[in-house]
Amino acid sequence: MLNQNSLRSLLTPILIFATVLALPEQAFSQGTADRNASPQLYKSRNFSLMTDISKDDAEGLLSQLESMLKLVSGYWGRRNRKPIRMFVIDDFANWPQSQLAQMSPDGVQSVRGGGGLTITSVKGFVGGPKIDSEAIVYATSKHKTPQHEAIHAYCGINFGSTGPVWYSEGMAEVGKYWRDGEKGVNAGEYVIQYLQSQDPKPLGAIVNNPLERTGDSWQNYAWRWVLCHMLGANKNYSARFKPLGMALLADKHVSFDRVYGAQAKEIEFEYQLFLKDMEPGYRCDLCSWNWKTKFRVPSSKTKLLAKIRAESGWQASRAKVFSGDTYSLETKGNWTLSKDGELLTANGEASGEGQLVGIIFDDYELSDSFEIGENESFTVPRDGQLFLRCRDKWGELADNNGVIEVRIGLLEKGERVSEKGR
Ligand SMILES: [Zn+2]
Repeated sequence: MLNQNSLRSLLTPILIFATVLALPEQAFSQGTADRNASPQLYKSRNFSLMTDISKDDAEGLLSQLESMLKLVSGYWGRRNRKPIRMFVIDDFANWPQSQLAQMSPDGVQSVRGGGGLTITSVKGFVGGPKIDSEAIVYATSKHKTPQHEAIHAYCGINFGSTGPVWYSEGMAEVGKYWRDGEKGVNAGEYVIQYLQSQDPKPLGAIVNNPLERTGDSWQNYAWRWVLCHMLGANKNYSARFKPLGMALLADKHVSFDRVYGAQAKEIEFEYQLFLKDMEPGYRCDLCSWNWKTKFRVPSSKTKLLAKIRAESGWQASRAKVFSGDTYSLETKGNWTLSKDGELLTANGEASGEGQLVGIIFDDYELSDSFEIGENESFTVPRDGQLFLRCRDKWGELADNNGVIEVRIGLLEKGERVSEKGR
């Protein structure tokens, strides 16, 4: 219990998290609310929702929010301590003036602009621990804004902070797409299209840009989402991402650069590859790059064996190869392009799907991919490390099955100007 004196030493900073205002036209779905429906209060275990969307939609939203919150609290390892109060607005015409007058003017303004706002008040002793937080969400009913804002509210209530802008907004975007058991990319189509139409934004400009702020633009949110999604899902980075996030939420002195600085080149490479190959269903965990395998130069005697899995992205062949040389190839085994699909050899289907294909990695650059199949020999377009995979749409790898063993040896040395690097 707090007495009057200690109450006087409390401070109550207000943290505000706003969401993107202007989204592209195609991002807006048709409103599903009953016209002239007056706002009603709906409650679930963790949410108290005042909204003018229909009863069915409101109950659907609450159940989505509850399952999202379960994943969110599982991820951050903290149970939600307090109900999250939300105003979700479909059409202002449904809201009486008297009710609007009781809301935060900033909240109303954000929703009018097509976005949302979460206002968190944190009580704590000066310089001491945060002791209590509350959060109120204002959100348009559209484009998963309630979900996005609910993540801010969860962080605000349970950590008293949501971390720096790139993390806070990136994770709110990641979290709003979370569905149980789903690991693939499921961001809006307009987000993917936008990202692939741009030159990749440098990572430093996402994490260290003092001019960027919450609520700035949906395009900036898209870049924050890419980074947080990749770091959270890619096997090379995910183990460090959660502790980094926990420290950022606790306002400890950590930073992206400090945690990932030594892996900067690897992250940059995988980030660019993710942007290039991204499509709905893309799995960062299955496409994590293999940085550990040692590559060797194959000879006629020393053949290198690799086991290539149908459901993974580019995988190390273990062979360091040179353009001009001809390599021997033996493939053994089968794979399928769906759970009960037809068994295929390294030649794949007539369409070329399911075929064994290669790509050359050299100093963080990739060649174009090229066909290998089950021929007895093959050549490569440039010098470097050979990576292999089963050709399939990037968003459809997860249901593939099977392994093909690949043995690579040297068949014939070509002529080359320099022996550098052999
Ligand atoms: Zn936000």
